[in-house]
Amino acid sequence: MTFYFYIACRFQHSLLGERTNLFKMVTGMVRTLIAGNWKMNGLKSSLEEAKKTTQMLNDFPDKADCLICPPSTLIVPMKEVASERLHVGAQSCHPEASGAFTGDLSAEILADAGASYVIVGHSERRSEHGERSAYVQEQAHACLRAGVTPIICVGESFAQRERGETKDTVVRILRKSVPTLADSETLVVAYEPRWAIGTGLVPSSDEIAEVHGVIRELLIELYQDRGRGIRILYGGSMKPGNAAEILAIDNVNGGLIGGASLKADDFMAIYAAAVA
Ligand code: PEP
Repeated sequence: MTFYFYIACRFQHSLLGERTNLFKMVTGMVRTLIAGNWKMNGLKSSLEEAKKTTQMLNDFPDKADCLICPPSTLIVPMKEVASERLHVGAQSCHPEASGAFTGDLSAEILADAGASYVIVGHSERRSEHGERSAYVQEQAHACLRAGVTPIICVGESFAQRERGETKDTVVRILRKSVPTLADSETLVVAYEPRWAIGTGLVPSSDEIAEVHGVIRELLIELYQDRGRGIRILYGGSMKPGNAAEILAIDNVNGGLIGGASLKADDFMAIYAAAVA
């Protein structure tokens, strides 16, 4: 039986180029995504880390997706050194497909460069660039139009957490940021408490479970059964030392990792926790 199932998966892989769909359809399992956000870090020399990541991935079973979102200048050369197991993504996009938008990059341009995911609504974009949820929703729609998967980030501030407003804040922001239609292949959500990003602070496992639980409920409300397979990543000071505990929490389907994604050794230690 296992053998025939394996053959069916391989057959589907060669037919559709999709490694996991049949497996997920049969088991209902969600494939973990370990995503690195390099932010404004990365020169051509940093491609060595991507090369090393590609090589190191061969040492692990292919049980989780791996993604690096470098500065956009590195998307093309990173695609050239990455194997098919290392996906390459971008960190933001303009909602329009093309036009007079100096300095911006559309989802189409990023897809053309080789990006398969785009992070949208990161708290640094929301605070530094005034990108509000309605704009994030437009970006998400742009990603779908261009055939790339948006990773929509949401999270509460420290003050909102102190006031006990975490769940309400996350649900309110997410409701306004998500696209009209979505499923497990076309949307990823990242819960990133703003106070946990780059600070070394992390919510307790119970707190993460509670927030991921309400996000899951919202996704099911919005997309019915399709909402069950949409990946919900945790982001905010995830490191090799806390990854196993965080990734084991209910409804945590991966991580969005900033600082610890810059070095292949740290990033792969997190990947190792995901496939253990
Ligand atoms: C991020 O910027 O998305 C992030 C999670 O950063 P860090 O892992 O450094 O906290």
